[in-house]
Amino acid sequence: MLTQIELNKIDRKTWSGHNHTEFCPHGSGENTELYIQKAIAAGFKTYSITEHFPLPPAFYKAVDPDGSRHAIYTAAMSLQELPNYFRKMQFLKQKYQQQIRILVGFEFDYFAQFRDWTAEQLRYYQQQIDDGILSVHFLPTKAGLRAVDESAVDFKTGVLNEFGSPLNVAKAYLTTIKQAIDWDIPYKPNRYGHLMLYRKWRNSFSSQTIWHDRSTVLQMQEILEEILKTGGFLDCNCAGLFRLTQTELSPTSDWLFKAQVKGIPLVFGADAHQVASVAQGYNTYLESKYYFGKKAKLTYATKTKLK
Ligand SMILES: [Zn+2]
Ligand SMILES: [Zn+2]
Repeated sequence: MLTQIELNKIDRKTWSGHNHTEFCPHGSGENTELYIQKAIAAGFKTYSITEHFPLPPAFYKAVDPDGSRHAIYTAAMSLQELPNYFRKMQFLKQKYQQQIRILVGFEFDYFAQFRDWTAEQLRYYQQQIDDGILSVHFLPTKAGLRAVDESAVDFKTGVLNEFGSPLNVAKAYLTTIKQAIDWDIPYKPNRYGHLMLYRKWRNSFSSQTIWHDRSTVLQMQEILEEILKTGGFLDCNCAGLFRLTQTELSPTSDWLFKAQVKGIPLVFGADAHQVASVAQGYNTYLESKYYFGKKAKLTYATKTKLK
């Protein structure tokens, strides 16, 4: 993993920090090389490849059997594919090094119950990983883990049914995000992905639906405070802008602005799962000047725990 000092040196105006590859089972399957060529053409100088890291073997036994099969079995590549992933990404990193700086890494899933497994993987692969994102895609329910981002139907029959209201899903999601930020281990990715993924289906609900209240605002304030304190970065996730069910950034622009004012560095995230999406939202990111602001704080932890 790059050190905090190295991450801070990257120009965030030209850094694309969140991209998937043909190793993603729910992606388009297009060759990663085409993503990179598109990124070069769009004007990026740094390009993070952040494929979903394989899920813990125990995950498959911990899911709600009534949840979407697709969400479970296409969430990530298998552990057996990792050597091929590293080989291909290292090859592209070398091949394009004169045109763009490629950082090879992952988007890791945070699960409270699999923290030890994830910590072990981070330690084991740390020398092969340049950059990483930590995200929440699944929430625990009484029947097992359920996806937040699979489909509106799966959202409604799963997490919404479990927690009772969109507002309570928001609270549960933000509680999990807070745990992910508080989790203190070596080699932990310190950029947090799409903080408001629970709003992905908001347009399929009535406009009167309540998604936030004083307590979620407090949760978000605590989250930002903790990210700031621990020297973290925030994924300025633009994918939702183009989704008819979402049509907004994640987190929402008001929170991106608050994070920026607070001094948390934002990193552009196309969250591209197909070549056509490599620059999605990049102009919005530039025009909103989300790249402005302070560098991440150097803390004792970020100085010592990242290699
Ligand atoms: Zn994905
Ligand atoms: Zn994600």
